[in-house]
Amino acid sequence: MFIGIYTKKELGCILRFKACFDKILTMNKQDYKNAIEKLNLYSHHYYVLDDPITTDEVYDKLYHEVVEYEEHNPNDMLKNSPTQRVGDIVSEGFTKENHLSRMWSLEDIFDSQGLEKWLVKTYKLDKNITFYCEPKFDGASLNLIYEDGVLVKGITRGDGTTGELITQNVKTIKSVPLTIEYKQRIEIRGEVVIFKDEFDKINAARLKNDEAVFANPRNAAAGSLRQLDSSITASRNLVFLPYGVGENELEHKLLSDKMEYIYSLGFRKPPERAVCKNAKEIESIYKQMVHDRDSYSMMLDGMVIKVDEISSQIDMGHTVKVPRFAVAYKFPAVEKITTVKDIVLQVGRTGAVTPVAIVEPTNIDGVVVERATLHNFDEIDRKDIRLNDKVIILRSGDVIPKIIKVLTHERDGSEVEVIRPTTCPVCGSELLDEGVLLKCQNLECEARVVNSIMYFASKPCLNIDGLGIKIVEALFTSGLIKSVVDLFDLTLEKLLALEGFKEKKSQNLLDSLQNAKGSDYWRFINSLGIEHIGEVASKTLADNFGFGFVNATKEEIIACDGIGEEMAESVLEFVRVNHETITKLQEILQPLEPVKKEEAKENPFKGKTAVLTGTMSESRGTIKEMLENLGAKVSGSVSKKTDFLIYGEDAGSKYDKAMSLGVECLTEQEMRERLT
Ligand code: NAD
Repeated sequence: MFIGIYTKKELGCILRFKACFDKILTMNKQDYKNAIEKLNLYSHHYYVLDDPITTDEVYDKLYHEVVEYEEHNPNDMLKNSPTQRVGDIVSEGFTKENHLSRMWSLEDIFDSQGLEKWLVKTYKLDKNITFYCEPKFDGASLNLIYEDGVLVKGITRGDGTTGELITQNVKTIKSVPLTIEYKQRIEIRGEVVIFKDEFDKINAARLKNDEAVFANPRNAAAGSLRQLDSSITASRNLVFLPYGVGENELEHKLLSDKMEYIYSLGFRKPPERAVCKNAKEIESIYKQMVHDRDSYSMMLDGMVIKVDEISSQIDMGHTVKVPRFAVAYKFPAVEKITTVKDIVLQVGRTGAVTPVAIVEPTNIDGVVVERATLHNFDEIDRKDIRLNDKVIILRSGDVIPKIIKVLTHERDGSEVEVIRPTTCPVCGSELLDEGVLLKCQNLECEARVVNSIMYFASKPCLNIDGLGIKIVEALFTSGLIKSVVDLFDLTLEKLLALEGFKEKKSQNLLDSLQNAKGSDYWRFINSLGIEHIGEVASKTLADNFGFGFVNATKEEIIACDGIGEEMAESVLEFVRVNHETITKLQEILQPLEPVKKEEAKENPFKGKTAVLTGTMSESRGTIKEMLENLGAKVSGSVSKKTDFLIYGEDAGSKYDKAMSLGVECLTEQEMRERLT
């Protein structure tokens, strides 16, 4: 009928307009008032208590509905509307302090249409502009005031005019220079963040101490910054990332140049930044940042686009809340609200029983999430997670999604407490309950056997190609294997008798098993799956004892660099219980006894721990071997114990972490120069 006369595009426009109109109509004055109340409650939990009770996505959606209502009903606008003020609330307990010039929030956009609209609006104010784009760091705003080159004040953003004076706390942040070469009075603005791995450590420690965990790194950063005891702030390894200046006498005409100057004063650079001429270039860097977001050490929640020309910025000015010359192009949300439907149990190779939450399927950044890790039953108890609970779930990078918060205020009585299991869900045997650790002790439990075979075959162990979970399960359930030793009794005949095993697949598997023979001895040790003994410790044991590792005493093992008492006891206990199996496997696999290395000559890396990152002139494996021959230990992750980080091109999160811990960072070239 009538609809037939519209083109698809026109119809799309009409429907969008209708949807928009319906939404406005659905919010009446009372709804508007309720929405303001709700937003202010959310803000109180978010800014003051550092303990949000909803996701940013839910907050932003309601906020934008309020904005729309106010645009159509300006006379109804309430004074306490969050659209009329910068969010943070200045808490009691700190001295209040005025900023020299105001601090602002940012307008948000969420997609290409939003960008297009913002560009049209901005070009109307000035046609001859370019754009400086950099990540939007998800942390807490901070204003630093330097006078005569000395840091004199650190102030939180607060309400934009007045914040909390937290200079002592700020002085504990290693990436905040206490002095700079620039002598005029200047305000340097930036975001204080907590790196993701640091955040995990803090929360693990808080769980252990029965303290409430932080919902996300942003809240942890804000909470850590506003501590009355500076030593707590100092212990949290906060990082400061500058994103602009307030009052200043700098004469740069472009923001990008100004920021380069700020970085040159000793501040950290953002991991990515670019000057863009148009929407196409902006979209391209945005896509790149979305793609890279998981590889960064800190959480990002968007990209900030700012007009690069300072004179145009001044002409454009601000609204009551945000600058007109800047906008936050938000990334797809990684936190969603969902419901816990079930808790299932997984049994690992060591017998540890791990609960996993089955949640209402939820799309997070293009991936449908149905499961979330819970680590252990103590975590369920401490977080008081119940079936049917509404929860905030976070999916960040490749890590398994996790429940970061239970929305207890949304409970309606239908929630059911989770019962701690007493028997293994796979073999039914009684579980050992050691608090955090629930363990199936049955060595023949299918889950334990299958997972230990998977581990045995994995890359850092014997690297057996083609031994996937389906094949291992099929071999186990058919009764052909009960342990790793049985793998080597398999024959073509036995395999061909199994359903789905054709000649090629069976022969490939036998070839892979054959290839596992004659491996390095450390791989052999690693493949045994001794608790607390990973790749590095396996190498140490292989280098120190060779085939004699089964006869080493506790004292001898503890005397090895990097091996402590718990590890030594684990080795001894494993050898005691499995001596026969180890001998049998060694006979079958014929691993190569390590050649005793000559002691390395004195050099700057001897006895030191190094971590490699980025692309180098040779493979990292080659450089690792070279360093090991020089007597260095090469570890996979950066910690306080790391002596050197050696980096190549595109160094990512390890570099950031090393910098934050004050670890000496050397380029590959610098490393080589130290050896000449
Ligand atoms: P915002 O955090 O969205 O943006 C402004 C802030 O971004 C600046 O003040 C600055 O601190 C920071 N920023 C980071 N990188 C920057 C860069 N490169 N350049 C400039 N600024 C940069 O705005 P806001 O007003 O602080 O907070 C509002 C947002 O907070 C909402 O959009 C919502 O997502 C969240 N919020 C959530 C809840 C909740 O309950 N989950 C409640 C209140 C607010």
